[in-house]
Amino acid sequence: MKDISCQVLVVGAGPGGYVAAIRAGQLGLDTVIVEAKRPGGTCLNVGCIPSKALIHTADEFFRLAEIAAGRRSPGIRAAPPEFDGAAAREWRGGIVNRLTHGVGDLLKRAGVKLVEGHARFRDGKTVLVETATGPQTVRAQHVVIATGSEPVALPGLPFGGRVLSSTEALALADVPARLVVVGAGYIGLELGTAFAKLGAAVQVIEAADRILPQYDAELTRPVAARLRELGVTVHPGTLARGLVGDDVLLATGPDGAELRLPADAVLVTVGRQPVTEGWGREELALTMNGRHIAVDAQCRTAMRGIWAIGDVTGEPMLAHRAMAQGAMVAEIIAGQRRTWDKVAIPAVCFTDPEIVTVGLSVEAAREAGIAARTAHFPFRASARAMTAEHEAGFVRLVARADNHLILGMQTVGAGVSELAAAFALALEMGARLEDVAATIHAHPTLGEAIPEAALRALGQALHV
Ligand code: FAD
Ligand code: FAD
Repeated sequence: MKDISCQVLVVGAGPGGYVAAIRAGQLGLDTVIVEAKRPGGTCLNVGCIPSKALIHTADEFFRLAEIAAGRRSPGIRAAPPEFDGAAAREWRGGIVNRLTHGVGDLLKRAGVKLVEGHARFRDGKTVLVETATGPQTVRAQHVVIATGSEPVALPGLPFGGRVLSSTEALALADVPARLVVVGAGYIGLELGTAFAKLGAAVQVIEAADRILPQYDAELTRPVAARLRELGVTVHPGTLARGLVGDDVLLATGPDGAELRLPADAVLVTVGRQPVTEGWGREELALTMNGRHIAVDAQCRTAMRGIWAIGDVTGEPMLAHRAMAQGAMVAEIIAGQRRTWDKVAIPAVCFTDPEIVTVGLSVEAAREAGIAARTAHFPFRASARAMTAEHEAGFVRLVARADNHLILGMQTVGAGVSELAAAFALALEMGARLEDVAATIHAHPTLGEAIPEAALRALGQALHV
């Protein structure tokens, strides 16, 4: 096959890589992107998108089941719903297909050449791709590494058979009768909650002393309460050890006691690791930052002309961070002056209720030596939350005590993921408590809790 030469070569077509390639193409750079599996990467194919589709199905099913049982939506009666797992899986697959084809079309429209196959570096400018029709050499002036991340396996519980990663869990048609989730991070709890709503008996094992240990306890309390309501048993301070026979998970509890949990499926969600092996990293002279590729504020690696973006560069491993890095790198390669100067990267946990964090918590601000003030507005005082039958949770603001610059905004509540937009905008625009308090928010919406929290921080609360 004839060698290809280009200005920009992107390895990996996940959110980081495909955005880098589209932007590079738009800016007139001759660009090639290589993908071993499907465009869209983890996020579109086996991550963000199918997980949110599964959560939606589970929420709809559970709402109907609650109405049928007379526990929700006063004034409505309905028959108990039935779940068709194969149809739900087909619907999820349809959404994924639409989006991955969309990415393919966007790449084409930007003039980017997609090479399908596994890429391996020969040197800092040359990559060999194993395509279906034979090996293809691609040479480039600039190379962007966007190989992403993969699930971490536990030594005693290798993936296979009943032991599932998020990828296999999202491909299930049947709901396992007894599911044990190992790791109460955001992925385990998002999926565990969905399966519980679809009828599985779910138990969660967590090594730390509480669920979602990366979040502060105040934010996670409503999620823990909801898990109890849903009948999900959480075993904190517990380490998974392995399977006994085919269907019993062996674990060690906080007091050293042995736990034996019967399981039809074990979902292991103990974190994700960067994909740094298998593509010829040893041919390059990259500097590592722990398990990740070290990059500077422009996503440059230690080698001139080689860039790295997305999950392979470390935390927070989020799709929107990868995309923003991808666009930035393309613009720098095209000669624009850009650097990573983001104030805020929102993080959303799509549990029940949802959690959004942007910027600093009050503890983090104080640890950074900043005198901060904080205030909450509880959703039980929100008319919109009452009319939507979801009153758990609150909005919390953290601001500098001296000039009231907002440092962080957090919320937990049903449907609050959409508030991430207002939070990120406020932080990125350098809003002060007074700016947020003086902005008119539509009534009745959950967003009204934002100015209310700001008013409260200023000692001028109106509705609480
Ligand atoms: P990836 O999306 O991992 O893409 C890397 C691509 O590179 C892959 O397609 C891979 O096949 C390809 N590749 C690797 N090596 C080679 C090679 N040698 N040759 C060719 N191709 C190669 N993030 C959020 O922001 N919000 C969420 O709600 C969310 N939910 C998630 C739910 C789940 C279940 C999971 C697993 C993840 C979730 N994430 C979420 C995280 C998100 O998926 C990642 O942060 C994001 O996909 C990272 O993008 P990336 O471009 O760095 O890498
Ligand atoms: P994790 O969130 O890492 O959770 C894994 C859990 O498993 C941990 O609680 C761990 O204690 C537990 N565990 C590990 N081993 C065992 C065992 N043997 N038995 C039982 N339990 C075990 N990254 C940050 O650095 N800071 C953040 O604030 C942050 N927030 C995020 C928010 C969101 C909404 C998203 C999507 C991502 C966030 N990330 C953050 C990135 C995230 O940590 C990574 O993407 C993560 O590595 C993948 O998530 P996970 O649920 O698989 O694992």
